[in-house]
Amino acid sequence: MAFDSYTLRNQFPILQQTAYDYPLAYLDNAATTQKPLLVLDAIQDYYRSFNANVHRGAHFLSDRATNHFEQARERVANFINAPENSHVIWSKGTTEAINMVAYGLEHLLEKDDEILITSLEHHANLVPWQQLAFRTGARLRVLPLTSNGEWEPEYQKYFTDRTRIFAATQVSNAIGVRTPLQTMINEAKQYNAFTLVDGAQAVAHYPVDVQAIDCDFYVFSGHKMYGPTGIGVLYGKSQALDVLLPYQTGGEMVRHVAYQATEFNILPYRLEAGTPHIDGAIGLAAACEFLAQQDRVALLDWEQKLANHVYTRLRKEGGIEIYSPEHETTLVSLSVPNIHTIDLNAYLDSKGVAVRAGSHCAHPLMAQLGVSGTLRASFACYNTLEEADQFCDVLLEAIEILA
Ligand code: PLP
Repeated sequence: MAFDSYTLRNQFPILQQTAYDYPLAYLDNAATTQKPLLVLDAIQDYYRSFNANVHRGAHFLSDRATNHFEQARERVANFINAPENSHVIWSKGTTEAINMVAYGLEHLLEKDDEILITSLEHHANLVPWQQLAFRTGARLRVLPLTSNGEWEPEYQKYFTDRTRIFAATQVSNAIGVRTPLQTMINEAKQYNAFTLVDGAQAVAHYPVDVQAIDCDFYVFSGHKMYGPTGIGVLYGKSQALDVLLPYQTGGEMVRHVAYQATEFNILPYRLEAGTPHIDGAIGLAAACEFLAQQDRVALLDWEQKLANHVYTRLRKEGGIEIYSPEHETTLVSLSVPNIHTIDLNAYLDSKGVAVRAGSHCAHPLMAQLGVSGTLRASFACYNTLEEADQFCDVLLEAIEILA
């Protein structure tokens, strides 16, 4: 049976509106997803019923807040199959989590060590490594993947005895291809490199098992998987988290402080300075619950079907460059020669279709593709076939008018 996105939509109040009198087709899900009632209610419940600071107070509300907060950590740990709750560190999102690792490993890097990333990375998984390389004298190297996400011939030569860190995305946000993650991780391990997986574009679509992936670090953002903004996760193996120097210091992350020295707290608190984003963590746990309630296989199948429907319709038209793969993707990324993607975006918006135009925080990848940007329609659990068609119809109309 097909996934019932039509019924599921009712759980998303924001989608029950029109845009400029047109049905609102929200197809900008790779940027951020909308939030179901389960998440909205969980956040409201926190503020209405048990708002207090966590871990500090010894009173009724503080105990309740702490319990919910730590249960949220457990929910997230289960969601990614982390072996211990303490392996889940809260962050603001993927970007902050990567910065935490880049900063935390700095003390282990030496001049001429190598940090390896792929050519499909979002700037969040590029700039922190580049800056780390500048600070330490290490070299940033880029493993070229084809725009199909396949290895360049002789890829092995990019892994060397000096490779200390290997950081790669699981799914490209700009063109939707999946990277050969497991092969890459296995290769990096042969050189004892730390491995980090950017799961920002994966968690909403694919069930994630960090133990099966066997990476040192796995990072993602709540807002891309139906959770709130401002909350994300740094998962790490305990031996990997143990060597990270705290990115921030202050309250909560300490056990004892004297003017002469500070004794840091145990994990996960050692890496969580200050009052955490309590409602964010609770909202993210509710988002995990929401996803766990879905038939994940059918859900992914539905999202891929929508992307494939758009791909098939647009390819027939000719004159449209499509950069995402035909199958096994949940987004379609394209450009139309001689029409600026920003103009296409504006036309689509005027007819109620929300997509994303631009470089998708991936300037080097855009250069590799030979474009300044693409137009991206990205699908989520609540999207319908009618919305996929609305996108195609309005895009073709725009091309006719703007060509
Ligand atoms: N990595 C990928 C693949 C992304 O798609 C994004 C956001 O678009 C990020 C990292 C950064 O995520 P955030 O802005 O939530 O930190």
